Amino acid sequence: MKIIMLGAPGAGKGTQAKMIAEKCGIPHISTGDIFRANIKQGTELGRKAKEFMDKGLLVPDELTCDLVVDRIQKDDCANGFILDGFPRTIRQGEVLEEALTGLGQKVDCALDIVVPDESIIERMAGRRACVGCGATYHIVFAPTKTEGICDKCGEKLILRDDDKPETVQRRLAVYHEQTQPLEDFYAARGVLKEVDGTQTMDKVFGDILGILGV
Ligand code: ADP
Ligand code: AMP
Repeated sequence: MKIIMLGAPGAGKGTQAKMIAEKCGIPHISTGDIFRANIKQGTELGRKAKEFMDKGLLVPDELTCDLVVDRIQKDDCANGFILDGFPRTIRQGEVLEEALTGLGQKVDCALDIVVPDESIIERMAGRRACVGCGATYHIVFAPTKTEGICDKCGEKLILRDDDKPETVQRRLAVYHEQTQPLEDFYAARGVLKEVDGTQTMDKVFGDILGILGV
């Protein structure tokens, strides 16, 4: 099963993608996580990506596409994968399609998690990320047992630089302009499935399992 997650930043793509990956036994591939890992390790890719991420802009396609095309050809993707945060432009959608066609494959399902902009602002302001393992929480909707400390690894939690309100506004504008057109792109291919992302996390997950038939 080859699944991609669509939806605004903060719609809940990562939250759901992790659960789907576990349930279906396929890897969760998040380009945002890959960039953040590179920033943490101080690589050249991380240095370049950070310039764009901190401004709420997309990392250019030429830095993004090759790494995804390489990643989806690794052995652990033999039974499928779930892409979270990629594609984010029509060009990225085309590159993915060309790569999959070359492998005799295609996207089976584009899950679009729909959440209005007002709720996105609230979600991003409350999102907290672990500096150690990257786990994501929310101060109201998914709190940790001890405030500010990751349940999974015990490291401290931070508000991501790009989750600050002024950057969130920019990221939302970029989403509507550059990423949302992918809804039509995947609808035209008959694989777009919309999910009401304003429901509780468990309810959203239930709807997704129904769509995937797993
Ligand atoms: P994305 O990967 O789309 O940017 P996340 O999965 O990181 O979004 O979710 C953004 C924030 O909203 C996180 O703090 C997460 O805990 C919270 N969240 C995710 N899904 C829901 C939901 N259905 N209801 C309330 N909060 C949610
Ligand atoms: P995310 O964790 O998915 O919200 O991504 C965080 C940031 O990483 C985004 O705001 C972009 O700057 C960058 N990024 C992640 N995925 C992509 C992508 N597919 N194309 C361009 N930039 C991306």
